[in-house]
Amino acid sequence: MADCLFCKIVEGTIPAKKVHEDEHTLAFHDIAPHAPTHVLVIPRRHVPTLNDVTLEDRELMGSLLLSATKVARELGVADSGYRLVMNCNRDAGQTVFHVHVHVLGGRPLAWPPG
Ligand code: AMP
Ligand code: ZN
Repeated sequence: MADCLFCKIVEGTIPAKKVHEDEHTLAFHDIAPHAPTHVLVIPRRHVPTLNDVTLEDRELMGSLLLSATKVARELGVADSGYRLVMNCNRDAGQTVFHVHVHVLGGRPLAWPPG
């Protein structure tokens, strides 16, 4: 998708600090981290929001979740704890319209979120 920031990261035309990549997903450090560990995991394929995910994407979404837990293990927050966040549309504060999972950890995280 031509105008999508995360598609450009997938293509390599915008740089990112990658921490994991495989056939279906890519993970990289968030440019404005909200925790000592703050990584974004994205599908290589452009899917704008969670509302656009269909049954055909079930394998892709499974891969996304598995990549996120792998990143948590590799960055050393799996045992201390971490949070996965997916924001959908305006009220959740979604700013990049290419589905992504935030992996947040490395400090105690407040609950409920704001
Ligand atoms: P969301 O608000 O859920 O759409 O999250 C989008 C996230 O993308 C934010 O946490 C931003 O800090 C992050 N972000 C924006 N531009 C970049 C970039 N070029 N590289 C890495 N992360 C980015
Ligand atoms: Zn995209």
